[in-house]
Amino acid sequence: MSIWQRLWQYPRRLRVRLTFAYLILFSAFLTLIGFVFREVLRNNMEATVREVLEEEWGAAKGYIQIEKGRLIWFYDKDDPDEALILERLRHVYLLTNAQGRVLGLSTVYRSLGIDTPAEIRKAMLPNAPKWSIRKSEDGVPFMIRSGVLVDDGKRDFYLAIGRSLGENHKTLDDFTRNYFTAMPLFLLLSMLAGWLLTGRALKPVNDLAGTAQRISGASLDVRIPQRGANDELDRLVDAFNRMMERLESSFAQIRQFSTDVSHELRTPVTAIRGQLEVALFTAQTPEQYREAMINSMQDVERLSAIIKSLLLLSQAESGQLTLQPMAQDLCAPLIDIVEQFQIPAEDGELQLNAELPVECIAEVDHIQFERLAANLIGNAVKYTPPGGRVDVRLTDDGSHVLFEVADTGQGIPDSALPYIFDRFYRVQPNDPSPEKGLGLGLSFVAWIAKAHHGTVHVESQVGKGTTFVVTLPKTQAGDGHKEVDGAA
Ligand code: ADP
Repeated sequence: MSIWQRLWQYPRRLRVRLTFAYLILFSAFLTLIGFVFREVLRNNMEATVREVLEEEWGAAKGYIQIEKGRLIWFYDKDDPDEALILERLRHVYLLTNAQGRVLGLSTVYRSLGIDTPAEIRKAMLPNAPKWSIRKSEDGVPFMIRSGVLVDDGKRDFYLAIGRSLGENHKTLDDFTRNYFTAMPLFLLLSMLAGWLLTGRALKPVNDLAGTAQRISGASLDVRIPQRGANDELDRLVDAFNRMMERLESSFAQIRQFSTDVSHELRTPVTAIRGQLEVALFTAQTPEQYREAMINSMQDVERLSAIIKSLLLLSQAESGQLTLQPMAQDLCAPLIDIVEQFQIPAEDGELQLNAELPVECIAEVDHIQFERLAANLIGNAVKYTPPGGRVDVRLTDDGSHVLFEVADTGQGIPDSALPYIFDRFYRVQPNDPSPEKGLGLGLSFVAWIAKAHHGTVHVESQVGKGTTFVVTLPKTQAGDGHKEVDGAA
């Protein structure tokens, strides 16, 4: 991968994306916190100013006297506390009579703009607001407390006093500046923390990717150790390990299958070669040639039967074989098949009986169903010694059909039962009998049952007999053409 490709890929990496997402969230969060805190601070400071102004406004009445239309500040000049209070009071104030004639005014208040008589009359109404904020000529905000003052002579006056909010605003501005100056540092630290945290969180994923890259056909036993955190990543590791187990077993099956196929094909090929050598080097009479050719022919037939079955199975398992289920009576084909097996059954001195209902309608692919039935009945006849019996039964429970083939034959040992549906599996692989099977019949049975959404159940006792029960649903859900992947 070139350096440009790497650089292009870099921002797409999950770790980078997560870190940036974390950074964006964190900066949004910090900004919000900053603004909320600034608002709370501003409100608190304003509330404090209001409290002080309210107190001063209440106290002002005691210091004000109006004589002959003139304002006189009345206080003990020798008391430094009172002098200080008065100094503060007179810093920002306006006093007018009820008509709006100015009786007293500070220079600072003048810079805020003197209220007109109309404004004053409005401000003296009972529900007029007491608080306002005004800006001086040089832009400094002031909080103003205004209202009606009643003197001892019971006359109404208008008094407004104020305090600068300049200090408050400066504090707020300082806070905002410092906060947002320090923010990049916080963000840098959070980015670092995000980078480390995501790196830590994604480590198992990277381990997983590394392990997956190292896996080859020869190293399917690789597993990723569990971290014991019981979290989503542990579940991923667990799922991966289980997938590896399945892969390992599938690979083992495939290897076994290749070995079996080559073995199965080699046997008839070796036999044909032997027969041909006999014909070439030792046969002299036409009978001897003929016999060698007949034997070769039998082996060629076996070879082509194996190849045909294998081809069909692989088509079935890869989904190329399409089922064409149609509603039909299963009794008629079963009668024919049982009929076909009567001759081998008689040859083997067996009783072959069929117990079928008058009619049994089910949706099946007739070719595959007949293959299934022929394999099971054929096996029963093949593996039951003379004197025994084979019973074929078909029943209908309303939603399913049960097809049963029971024999009184040699039975299948418990240890072999789990494998009888595997390809090429034979309980007695070296059985010298001429009708020795290919070990593929039951693989077909299992696949056909599964393809019809059915099951195969087997019960067997060595020396007593075997019963196969195939259960098929009477109707196939979905469309009539069904493709099936994988065998049962
Ligand atoms: P095969 O072509 O050898 O019959 P199958 O796949 O049909 O192959 O069967 C697999 C093996 O299961 C057979 O080799 C046989 O050992 C055993 N088997 C199948 N059906 C019966 C049965 N009815 N009685 C006893 N053994 C059976």
